[in-house]
Parts: sequence; C-alpha cells; structure tokens
Amino acid sequence: MPFGVMFQSIVKAGFNFIYPPICLHCGKRRDENQEFLCFTCWNQIKTYDASLDIRQVLKSRMIGRVKTEHNFTLFWYQHSSPLKTLFQNLKYQNRKGIGLYLGRFLGKKINEKLESASEPAILVPVPVHKLKQIDRGYNQALMIAMGIARETRHVVLPAKEIILKTRQTDSQTKKDRISRWTSQKEVFGLNPKVNIDLNYRSVLLVDDIITTGATLEQIGKLILSKWPEARISIATIALTE
Ligand SMILES: [Zn+2]
Repeated sequence: MPFGVMFQSIVKAGFNFIYPPICLHCGKRRDENQEFLCFTCWNQIKTYDASLDIRQVLKSRMIGRVKTEHNFTLFWYQHSSPLKTLFQNLKYQNRKGIGLYLGRFLGKKINEKLESASEPAILVPVPVHKLKQIDRGYNQALMIAMGIARETRHVVLPAKEIILKTRQTDSQTKKDRISRWTSQKEVFGLNPKVNIDLNYRSVLLVDDIITTGATLEQIGKLILSKWPEARISIATIALTE
C-alpha cells in the first residue's frame, strides 16, 4: 500500500473512531459503506416497481394530461419512511450530497433506457424561487439533475435555466393564514434568454417527488407551448402513495 493511501486510511479510521458514521434516520451507527442511512433504514424504503407504468399510476393525477415518453422513479414515498428524513436533510439541512447520490441512481436507470438515443436529453430541473434559493443556497432538483448527469452521458444540463419560477406569492400580509397559503400558487415561466430549439428533442423534467403531478404538468405544458414537438419525459426520486 503506498504511504499516501495508508496515511489516508489511518486518518479515516481515526476519524470514524471519534465520529462514527450515524444513520440520519434512526441515529444508530451505520456501516461506512452505507451512505446516509443504515442498512435497515435503506431497506425500509419501498422501491418503485419498474413494471408499473407511472402514467397508469398517475392517471387520476394531473400528469396524465401531458403525454410523456419515459417516466423514471426510484421509490414510493411514505410518511414514516426514512426517505422522508433524506428529503428533509436534502431540503433544509444543506445536505446536497443526498441529491447527488439519489440522482446517480436515477442516472443508472436513465442510462439503460436512453442507450439507443441519438441525441442527449435536455435536463430541466424544477426551479425554486430565487428568494428560496438564496435562503437555502441551492435547488435540490438541480442537485438531483447533476447526479443524473454524472452517471449518464445521454443527458445534458443546459447552461441557462429553461424554466424560471416567476412569482412565489403576492404580498399578502393583510390576508389571514389560510388565504395566504392558498394564494401561494407556483407560477412558472419560460426563460426569455433561452434560444435553443427543443422541438424533436427529448426533455427530461427532474424533481424530487411527485405528489399531484401538477408542477410537472405545468412545466410540461409550458415547454410544449413553445416547442410543440418536444418529447417530454420525467425523472423523480419518489412518488407519493
Ligand atoms: Zn437507520
């Protein structure tokens, strides 16, 4: 073993002795080969059965109204699931690595499916409002998209965001809490500075979780309004049960 490598592993062993890797969900010690969660907690996350067509699953939800070419998802989202802990850490605890890590799993699935594609699919992470991004520092859907891009060469992240979140909410300070909450409608718009042609291109919408599918439907429709021949696909880490 070269000295540098040996030195590194001694330092790592010492570090793990002082700060043993802990499972984010149950707090028990995890094997250092297991990322973020212990083996037991990873196994509690219900994997999505690939033989189920998301379009069928979501028929009652809104995404059914936008025709999609491919649909990729990894897990079912359940409220007590360790996956919820992972998402909470990704969104609010600045754990970007979780997005990259889960994105790479999605990337593997996408790689298999798009192997015969002639042109790389354009990645469109669902944007967060600029103010939220400043607050949180990053967009978790972008982290997932970057993870995907690390795993497959059949996708490309455009230099400019194609979709922008244009308005978070009106200034509703005088309204009561309920109406303020209902007025926080997500409004997306096309970035006027984007000048690539998405017609006949595969466009992969990326998000962390599909609940109603309304967000992805809205973004899909926006893209089709400008590029009617774009081929929309979706990639998300999870789908709510
Ligand atoms: Zn655990």
